[in-house]
Amino acid sequence: MPKTSTSIINIICQCGQNITRYKKKKKGRLVRMYIDGILEDKCNLFLNKKFENGESVHCPSCNKKIGHIDMSKANLALKVNQGWIKKIIT
Ligand SMILES: [Zn+2]
Repeated sequence: MPKTSTSIINIICQCGQNITRYKKKKKGRLVRMYIDGILEDKCNLFLNKKFENGESVHCPSCNKKIGHIDMSKANLALKVNQGWIKKIIT
């Protein structure tokens, strides 16, 4: 049987702003955050929004770039800007 490694994580910005609660399906570093995996959109940044490919998303508190929208795959995703995340709490 294949192993599943779904985990629920809270993603916190370097400024301390709690951004999302997210259902992460793969192990390892968070590179892409799929919009349909977002359970709680703490700052109304992602859900029920219309995005354009390559659009930047910024932290509402410190304006640091969180990442950019990547529509290259079937599911809408945010390509996460490495170094932005302060911590991930599981
Ligand atoms: Zn921030």
